[in-house]
Amino acid sequence: MRYDIQMQNLLKKLQEEATHALTSVKIADELRVFEVAYLGRKGKLTELLKQLGSLPIEQRKTVGPIANATKQSIADAIAHRRETLGVDGKTPSVDVTLPGIRPSEGHLHLMTQAIAEIEDIFSRIGFNRVRHPEVDTDWYAFGSLNMPADHPARDEWETFFVTAPKTLQTTNYKLQTHLVLTPHTSNGQVREMERGKLPIRMINIGKSYRRQSDISHVPMFHQFEGLYIDTNVTIAHLKGVIEYFVHQFFGSNRSYRLRPYHFQFTEPSFEIDISCDICAGKGCRLCKEGWLELGGAGMVHPNVLKAGKIDPKKYSGFAFGWGVERTYMMKEGLKIDDIRLLYKNDLRFLEQF
Ligand SMILES: [Zn+2]
Repeated sequence: MRYDIQMQNLLKKLQEEATHALTSVKIADELRVFEVAYLGRKGKLTELLKQLGSLPIEQRKTVGPIANATKQSIADAIAHRRETLGVDGKTPSVDVTLPGIRPSEGHLHLMTQAIAEIEDIFSRIGFNRVRHPEVDTDWYAFGSLNMPADHPARDEWETFFVTAPKTLQTTNYKLQTHLVLTPHTSNGQVREMERGKLPIRMINIGKSYRRQSDISHVPMFHQFEGLYIDTNVTIAHLKGVIEYFVHQFFGSNRSYRLRPYHFQFTEPSFEIDISCDICAGKGCRLCKEGWLELGGAGMVHPNVLKAGKIDPKKYSGFAFGWGVERTYMMKEGLKIDDIRLLYKNDLRFLEQF
């Protein structure tokens, strides 16, 4: 039997096959796989060459050089291909078809998320998000809100004062030589009334500043201020809006209550409490009696309506102003026990949200 002829045919076939297969090799890693498949220890050509040893010596002399030439030819073809792919065999290759490494993506700060959610909840019942100055005159921050100069109620706000630019200083109001960093978003109330469009359904969300810093206070925080003014607005409307917000923001298992209080710019005035989610209203270390204070609310004082050129005999309304940070911290299951954490910019904390 002419094993040498048979072997020569096999070698020829293998070379054709290799040449053809090599054309579809597009990247360095594929080339490496190809090389192993033909020239590796268990490669196709290697297996074939192993059989050479079993041929009669005469036939081996004929086939040997052909086999070597075939091996060399495939090796050359691989080297050539490697060159055209631009790989020197030392540089690690890049497989462009592998999935990439995702760049780490940030997210909006917790308070930005909370503000967006609050805005969305109120917009669904017709409240428009508005913005009013965060550095304002004494008149809008206090005077127009039924707190004349030297009124003791002003002491409750640990206010930052800044000197007003000369161009803004006037003599017709004695405190006009300074401006305040707004200690609450209520400065937007009379500003909104002055736009002269009734009814008013505003939600003013902005920064507020007070000189205080501890576990439940930061010098810069956010408030959202709701104001609804129309004919025949009653406490029932106020309660309805608060209940709607509490259920949307905290969930339908939370309840709220109005507790009589005093503010200069609302009459009657309330503080709003919501049931504590940690103890489900039974009373715990955090809440003491099962309730957590959310913020103030009340029916707009007639003097404030007058300051905004609205006739208190025709119109009535309610207002509420709550801290965004505190409201957010009372969300179910968050258990943020120090308000200052929100602004420490510690990524280990922020990335949890
Ligand atoms: Zn509790």
